[in-house]
Amino acid sequence: MRRGRICVAVLFFFACQALAFEWTLVRHDGRDYVPIEEVAKFYRFTQADYSGDNVNLEGATLRMTGGVNSRELYLNGLKFILSFPIIKVDDRILLSRMDLSKLVEPVLRPAKILGKPVHTVVLDAGHGGFDQGAQSILGSEKDFALDVVQRARDLLLKAGFNVRLTRSGDVFVPLEDRVAFADRQSNAVLVSVHFNAGAREEAGGIETYSLAPRGVPSTNSLDLTLSDLQLCIGNTRDPENIALATAIHAALITRVGGSDRGIKRARFIVLRDSNIPGVLIEGGFLTNPQDRVRVATPIYRQLLAQAILQGILSYNRALNREAATEQMMAKRGNSSRPETNDAGASIWDPLKPNVYTLPEESRK
Ligand SMILES: [Zn+2]
Repeated sequence: MRRGRICVAVLFFFACQALAFEWTLVRHDGRDYVPIEEVAKFYRFTQADYSGDNVNLEGATLRMTGGVNSRELYLNGLKFILSFPIIKVDDRILLSRMDLSKLVEPVLRPAKILGKPVHTVVLDAGHGGFDQGAQSILGSEKDFALDVVQRARDLLLKAGFNVRLTRSGDVFVPLEDRVAFADRQSNAVLVSVHFNAGAREEAGGIETYSLAPRGVPSTNSLDLTLSDLQLCIGNTRDPENIALATAIHAALITRVGGSDRGIKRARFIVLRDSNIPGVLIEGGFLTNPQDRVRVATPIYRQLLAQAILQGILSYNRALNREAATEQMMAKRGNSSRPETNDAGASIWDPLKPNVYTLPEESRK
């Protein structure tokens, strides 16, 4: 393995904070990394075990686990797919600076994200009209997606949100029109609902997509392409995008159950070109024997809709914390804000698991 070039730099790490932390930057294969022990220190994990090839960091309310040469990172058991694998160079375990700043930081300290609380939710049912999306013997993706969106609309309205639908019937709406429609909403987020299809029948479970930051490959492609280096409109929302994906994915996995395929990165047009924070959920595989029965069951689709509401409430709470602090400080005439590295303020609630199980009759 090529020797990493090491330089020590004092980084004013995130523009919104005054706290400086001395990070050791390790340059390896043209990319910046930070040692895992400094991640542990910065986020105040009280127990850190990174002997061997496993990383296990634990704090009062948070646990982070991963492994060398792996792109999987678990935060309190929730699965994230890193943009670059964790690596080991000269016996040091390293996390890419990109994953630190675009994933770990906004997810562990959502209150630092400068974003407005959500008032309006744009719900985007995938496909429609002649575009059926994925299909199973029990139905089409376009119909299941619309049903979930309508259920989520009812729940969100009841909770006091404004709701806009990119389509409310079985019609084809071009992706560009969906984006233009979403962009006209203010204090809004976009939630795009899809169902999956796989080449293999075994592939199953739920995955959530957040826009890939500039300079990282999409999760499902191995190599970086030239277009991955371009800044997209949606990248102005990078911290909000990953926070929203985390909040909704956590709610999906806790409420709906099933296999956690993780929070992934992609450059889907509805995420890439929209100027409001967005997320795309894949609520199950129509090509998987268990998933397709679940997706065709109304109770399952209701749980998906409930998870969307729950996720947006959690996201709002995480971002409101910042607004509330600012209001409080302004009232006191105080200009300096308290600095904490508290990793305890997580985006997702410790929800009681409400794991969906198939109804008796459909198991036969
Ligand atoms: Zn789709």
